[in-house]
Amino acid sequence: MPARRNKPSSAPTRTPAKRVPRVGFVSLGCPKALVDSERIITQLRAQGYEVAPTYQAADVVVVNTCGFIDSAVDESLDAIGEAMEENGRVIVTGCLGKRPQRIRERHPRVLKITGPAAYEEVVSAVHEHLPPRHDPRFDLLPAQGIRLTPRHYAYLKISEGCNNKCSFCIIPALRGRLDSRPIGEVLREAERLAAAGVKELLVISQDTSAYGADLRYAAGEWRGGRLETRFIDLARGLGELGVWVRLHYVYPYPHVDAVIPLMAQGRVLPYLDIPFQHGSPSVLRRMRRPAHAEDTLARIAAWRRDCPELTLRSTFIVGFPGETDAEFAELLQWLDAAQLDRVGCFKYSPVEGAAANTVAQHVAPEVQEERYARFMERAAQISAQRLAARMGQRIRVLVDEVADGGAIARSAAEAPQIDGVVRIPQAGALRAGDWAEVTITGSDAYDLTGHLSGAARPLPGAARPLPGAARHSSAGSLREPATSGQEKD
Ligand code: SF4
Repeated sequence: MPARRNKPSSAPTRTPAKRVPRVGFVSLGCPKALVDSERIITQLRAQGYEVAPTYQAADVVVVNTCGFIDSAVDESLDAIGEAMEENGRVIVTGCLGKRPQRIRERHPRVLKITGPAAYEEVVSAVHEHLPPRHDPRFDLLPAQGIRLTPRHYAYLKISEGCNNKCSFCIIPALRGRLDSRPIGEVLREAERLAAAGVKELLVISQDTSAYGADLRYAAGEWRGGRLETRFIDLARGLGELGVWVRLHYVYPYPHVDAVIPLMAQGRVLPYLDIPFQHGSPSVLRRMRRPAHAEDTLARIAAWRRDCPELTLRSTFIVGFPGETDAEFAELLQWLDAAQLDRVGCFKYSPVEGAAANTVAQHVAPEVQEERYARFMERAAQISAQRLAARMGQRIRVLVDEVADGGAIARSAAEAPQIDGVVRIPQAGALRAGDWAEVTITGSDAYDLTGHLSGAARPLPGAARPLPGAARHSSAGSLREPATSGQEKD
């Protein structure tokens, strides 16, 4: 993009009478932050603003930051700098907004700084610096709101904040205590998304298994029935929508066992994203992880017995303060025993204000590097073996993109953005968002290759678009959403 060096100014921009005010959006961080961005954009669109695809086209730019670890802070500060350089009128929101002094030190002329999930404050700041143009035509919005994901999948955020106290994490300080959305509200949003053509719902939060605990599992109504605001009722309700339902950020508590039969019955995808973080009980204690006292290997074995198709994905931290050679060896043994399908790994990175910084001596960077490489090598071997075992299987996939005659798709075993993919070299007439049946013909450490066996039928009971429900293109973001390293759960 050619540089546009507007002088930063706090005076409201006067958009020409006929010109629609345009807001540029930069969304960084985890899927939770992405959902925050979607909500802000939805509100702004409802008030007549447009989303600008470039810095030059924007009258003001909102940067939704991540502040979880130092590298994410640097990335966010760089993104603010880029927006200041290219546009000059910048509103900052998101997790880094909780530390306004860090932002003001580098970028003293940003227009406004707000914290995470501060939708109203961001919208007010946009009003202040770029007044809306009143025109009833702009109240026409898709029923499902504005999304930054492709139209065939959507993140469903069920709660904000977290009641846990993991020693490496400052999310509870940034985003507050657990604040669950009532079950009826969540299921109605999911229903609207399904009716608008979304084929896969990705359930996200900081701790999905804790859903509803803050509301004492309050009862709610949906489709004329009574449900409680709790994990298992949410899974049951979502399982009625006829779309793929993928559960992220679940902890291995005993009550999670109840979802496995729903997976075996095909109501919910047989996929669990559980951030185990380590396999050594002593490290997990120092991390103060939820459910650290559970026998996770026994639990995994029982889940696989009851639902053999179950895919398990997880993230780990190596080089946590005080991690000894013996504790790291325990982690590798645990990994061998657990045989997880999908694994991500991060080297411990200090987070300003996190208790872990002082629990024990820090592991030297070169030792962290060496452990990271050994861990990833072992995880890649396991992944390659498990993927090779899928050769010859005929599976249903959802197509994410089509280019150069081929397609990139995913099966029940792959979540978007974080897992591998199923490559289809000859896509035929497939389009993004289509279902297809493929036969697996190749595999490597992370991805599969498949050949079309046929177009797949819609899922039984799949929701049809509501009459009049608008289809829309995804709203744009000026940068690709990025993950923030250690912000894993
Ligand atoms: S790591 Fe996850 S579960 Fe632990 S405190 Fe942070 S947000 Fe909560």
